[in-house]
Amino acid sequence: MMDKDRMMRAMGEFLAAIGDDSLAAESRKTPERVATAWCEEILEGYSQDPAEILLPLGAPGDCGTVLVKGIEFVSVCVHHLLPFFGKAIVAYQPGVRLVGLSKVARLVDCRSRRLQIQEVLTRQIVADLMEHLKPEGAACFMEAQHLCMIIRGAAKKDSRVVTSVFAGCFEEPKRREELFRLISTRLR
Ligand SMILES: [Zn+2]
Repeated sequence: MMDKDRMMRAMGEFLAAIGDDSLAAESRKTPERVATAWCEEILEGYSQDPAEILLPLGAPGDCGTVLVKGIEFVSVCVHHLLPFFGKAIVAYQPGVRLVGLSKVARLVDCRSRRLQIQEVLTRQIVADLMEHLKPEGAACFMEAQHLCMIIRGAAKKDSRVVTSVFAGCFEEPKRREELFRLISTRLR
């Protein structure tokens, strides 16, 4: 459980440390606003449980790979506390359980709305699917722009970071290739 009061106090300290007194009146409510935004929205994933999100709908018939593309996400890099954001593709090959498609997107939110490292985030999404749906396989791709690479450090504003994790049947080269084909197919 996050300690919102403590966050407010810390934010007051942070503002005081910046030392721009000319903004004192304007920033009077900033600590509270910041703490509310972080506790209730930016880091709301901590209050969500992947096991509850991935409650199965039931047993699938003989269906093929389930692929959800274009899932927007925003996360926060644990190293700089700056956002990174982009799109995810999530796939799974159902075994004994199916899950509602919107739940796949909610899982991405649950894991991304925390302090994160993109590589770990991608791996966690696949691990959650494998654990709670027991599919034959699962995979996740994430492509994101990192503010910590845009406004500081290397300052490469057009760089994109792509991460991918494959588990189960998608570890086989042939299945992985099929998955790539599915991903690049546009029906309309
Ligand atoms: Zn960073």
